[in-house]
Amino acid sequence: MPVTATLRILQTSDVHMHVLPYDYFRNAPDPYRGLARAAGIIKAARAQGTTLLFDTGDLLQGTPMAALFRESAPATHPACKAIDDLGYDAVTLGNHDFNFGLETAQRLYGGMPCPVVQSNVRDLAGAPLFAPTVILKRTVIDTAGDTHPIKIGLLGVLPPQVLEWDHNKLNGRITVIDMVKAARHAARSLREQGADLIVALAHTAPASEPQPDGAENRAHDIAALPDIDVVLAGHSHRRLPGADYDGMPDVDSNGATLAGTPAMMPGANASHIGRMDLTLEHTAAGWQIAGHNAELIALKDRPASATLNAALASEHDRTTRFVTQEVATTRTPISGRGFAFGFDAGQVLMADAARWRVEQEIDLQEPLIVATAPYRVETAPDGLCLHPGPISRCDLFTLYPYPNETCVVRVTGAALKDWLEHAACVFAAHQTDVVGPLLDPAMPSYNFDTLHGLNYRIDLFGQKGDRIRDLTRNGAPITAGETLLIATSTYRANGGGQFPKTPLIWADTIPITQMIERYLEAQGSVAPDAALGWEFVPHEGQATLLPHVDDTRTEIISLGADNLQTLAQHFQLPYMRYREVGAGEHLANPVRSGRKQP
Ligand SMILES: [Zn+2]
Repeated sequence: MPVTATLRILQTSDVHMHVLPYDYFRNAPDPYRGLARAAGIIKAARAQGTTLLFDTGDLLQGTPMAALFRESAPATHPACKAIDDLGYDAVTLGNHDFNFGLETAQRLYGGMPCPVVQSNVRDLAGAPLFAPTVILKRTVIDTAGDTHPIKIGLLGVLPPQVLEWDHNKLNGRITVIDMVKAARHAARSLREQGADLIVALAHTAPASEPQPDGAENRAHDIAALPDIDVVLAGHSHRRLPGADYDGMPDVDSNGATLAGTPAMMPGANASHIGRMDLTLEHTAAGWQIAGHNAELIALKDRPASATLNAALASEHDRTTRFVTQEVATTRTPISGRGFAFGFDAGQVLMADAARWRVEQEIDLQEPLIVATAPYRVETAPDGLCLHPGPISRCDLFTLYPYPNETCVVRVTGAALKDWLEHAACVFAAHQTDVVGPLLDPAMPSYNFDTLHGLNYRIDLFGQKGDRIRDLTRNGAPITAGETLLIATSTYRANGGGQFPKTPLIWADTIPITQMIERYLEAQGSVAPDAALGWEFVPHEGQATLLPHVDDTRTEIISLGADNLQTLAQHFQLPYMRYREVGAGEHLANPVRSGRKQP
């Protein structure tokens, strides 16, 4: 009879600073999320046997608390305190852990109260930033009650694309090598160091097709390496086991394997914790995995750790004071619900703030256009609505939740047109007599850039790549050869959303939320217009959608009536009504533009 024992692995990933069960964007308790809610599960697991707790990255960025404590020392940073309180065995970094710059990542991970493993990031001399391999010495108890030592080898990888996504912070400072190459090398080294089991802490996701060297999602290829026993993956914010990867080649979405290797992915924002029980067999060849069983446990409504709540009481108070502080007032409602129809006062406010900032910072020789997108729509389908009155700091994070900065790029008129065509791909293909969704579900709406300072029309019935009509600035057509500047986000300029590649002219040093805050403080009171400066090419058709932003302006588009009803319900558009247009009926309302002049 071989000796058998069990080992339990718990995993969190992509926590994005959801440490306490509190939503600082809304300034209200959050029943669904929060690492503190995992405390009971962790404690119970440890009471039952040898348990290892790992986090696979994207921990430090994502909430107002993250922005507020970015300069903290590890001893006082909420995420590091949570890692300490919950007793993590080891952690690795994700790409977003570099969002506040290399120094912040090095300071906070350098002071983590547990081992940090990271195998594919190097400084320019080729030296690793963190330990490329870690061995945990633990004991397991076999079925006869005897104790055996076991060495668990760890490696950690993150996507090399971090160099593009945080180009302005990392370029020329670090190199990131291919994840599979690094994992193979680290695993070999761990075997040489005597590791019995090798667990890859892999901040990367599976992919449905074979991936080239340097690709972003290589969890499959890491799982296929002969030395790797377990893969703890992440990055895509999806879940395994579960339906998210149903049907993907070489994934057992119920049995939790990738390429036949036990694997797990616990979603994002501390909504779940992953639990994997390994059955280990000791043979002449050492410890082998004879079986595994994985499940993801929802943290919804679980009691939060009292010790963590207490340890973070002052950080929590500081964050709620920070987010509720008033920075300005708005005299008009600010809603993003009409973003798909050319109305979004939040985007207009952000464009005004970016123009104000750039005009202060650089001497403009060329016309400045500002690019914005509806950033919050993914998480808040009913859109953002700030009522007239005070604007608090959490409203700024609601307007713009990401840790990016504003930057300025130079474009030709031709590239600017391509930029708009790419943005207009957010709309699905339309035919006059076919009812379908307005938006293409494959195109995230945060890639739907509006270019402020221009006027143009979008023809929904044109092919993708040929939808922009009547593009003008101050009434004059844009020529292919002229040059202009676009103020956009560092995310976009670094390649996010695959817009035209453009030379960088300037990058801000303060985050976009802080830029908006300074603009609002300087204004004191604002009343942003909702009109984005573009409109749909009107087509007479089966129905007409009439989004009423106010009593004086009516915009008209034509789409199928069923589609519009669904759409209006989906976006809960109180100010929209639609009506059927009879065959041959003349559209009585003239198309009036809600143009915003630069
Ligand atoms: Zn993430």
